[in-house]
Amino acid sequence: MLNSEHDVIVAGGGISGTMAAIAAAREGADVLLVERYTALGGMATLGLVQPITTWGRGGSFVIGGSGKRLLEEMIERHPGSATAVNHYGPSCDAEHLKRELEQVALAHGVRLLYHAWITGAEVGGERVQAIRIVSKSGESLLRGRVFVDATGDGDLAAFAGAPVEIGSQGITLMFLVSGIDRDRCPETTEIGRMYKEAGPVNYRGLALFWHPRPDSAYMNVTEVEHHDALDVEDLTAATIACRDQAWRVLERLREHVPGFEQAYIAQTAPALGVRESRHVQGLHVLSGEDVEAGRDFEDTIARASCPVDVHGSANDGRGAYHGLKRSYGVPYRSLVTAQFANVILTGRCISADHVAHSSVRRMAPGFALGEAAGIASAQALSHGDVRDLPTAPLQARLREHGAILDPE
Ligand SMILES: Cc1cc2nc3c(=O)[nH]c(=O)nc-3n(C[C@H](O)[C@H](O)[C@H](O)COP(=O)(O)OP(=O)(O)OC[C@H]3O[C@@H](n4cnc5c(N)ncnc54)[C@H](O)[C@@H]3O)c2cc1C
Repeated sequence: MLNSEHDVIVAGGGISGTMAAIAAAREGADVLLVERYTALGGMATLGLVQPITTWGRGGSFVIGGSGKRLLEEMIERHPGSATAVNHYGPSCDAEHLKRELEQVALAHGVRLLYHAWITGAEVGGERVQAIRIVSKSGESLLRGRVFVDATGDGDLAAFAGAPVEIGSQGITLMFLVSGIDRDRCPETTEIGRMYKEAGPVNYRGLALFWHPRPDSAYMNVTEVEHHDALDVEDLTAATIACRDQAWRVLERLREHVPGFEQAYIAQTAPALGVRESRHVQGLHVLSGEDVEAGRDFEDTIARASCPVDVHGSANDGRGAYHGLKRSYGVPYRSLVTAQFANVILTGRCISADHVAHSSVRRMAPGFALGEAAGIASAQALSHGDVRDLPTAPLQARLREHGAILDPE
């Protein structure tokens, strides 16, 4: 695989990258997925971020497609691997999800390269020719015809020279608490209240999400602000600070909340939870106005209805947590840049402003965006240029796979 050439190279194996790789391979492309860590799923697995939200609103799903099916089939085959996929989400067991994503990707013929950090891009004219990676094998070049940037941080596009804007929200290290006596536990909101009333809250409020195993819960509570998610020293400092916070949170829960007396930290997330970093600038920058108005586009390739949610001091007044009146479309133009004929963006790094990003960055849209990016990358192999790829055939293919593109 090293120093090789592929039809499609997917950079990053989070939810969106994995879906892109699966969808491109299903279309017949020879696909290599390059991931720096040891598993697929990104934030959903290595980041211990659960539940996977938000699939619909007002009683109807606005996201369907292969991602939803993948989760439903995992639950059918492995009862207890996740809670049911409903309009809000499922909460998945990260280990089951890692294996499911891996097995489905392999079954579709995706080649996986773990333990490989993408560190640069070789550019010729308007095309990325290759990406540079560093691994235990040293430095290598991976040549591709189409590249999908699914790194969350937009690493590939930025290394190639695409324009980016930087946004910054609080950084969180998720952790999994086990050993909870659920029968003795108060309701979830009551746990949050008891936690808060036990003393000054050092960090943000406690958001607890039950794991499919009843004695365990994912904790979204640690947070540091004003750390640069693209600076290795800041990332190190944030990790250390958040891990210390996690232990303090546990101590408080054990002391003040019934049912937590014997609770323990089963795991702090192997990957730090970065909400926001680079927004690659595409042909259309999805805006807060697009999202609030529930706007639709001729080239809609995915829908989303997740609440707007800008954390802490990054909220300039428009981004305080609130639900949307209707779902909105994500145009294909937010997945491609003006500069590159063979780069497609997906997941957290698509072209969106600060407010739109706070909604669309979630994982249910990530499944849908990934599937669209993957099919588009395969179609671009024969079309030649991702920027003027006809979107009707892409939309038709997405619909064949159950994607929802029309407003509810
Ligand atoms: C604390 C926190 C709480 C959240 N809560 C929720 C929630 O409740 N519900 C929800 O749906 N969403 C939530 N989100 C948002 C969501 O988890 C992420 O935005 C989403 O998972 C991003 O998916 P992605 O595929 O774009 O990127 P990621 O999941 O970040 O995947 C990117 C992948 O690329 C790899 N990668 C990155 N750079 C490189 C490189 N240079 N070389 C090689 N590999 C690389 C990474 O290792 C990773 O596997 C939360 C996020 C955070 C941080």
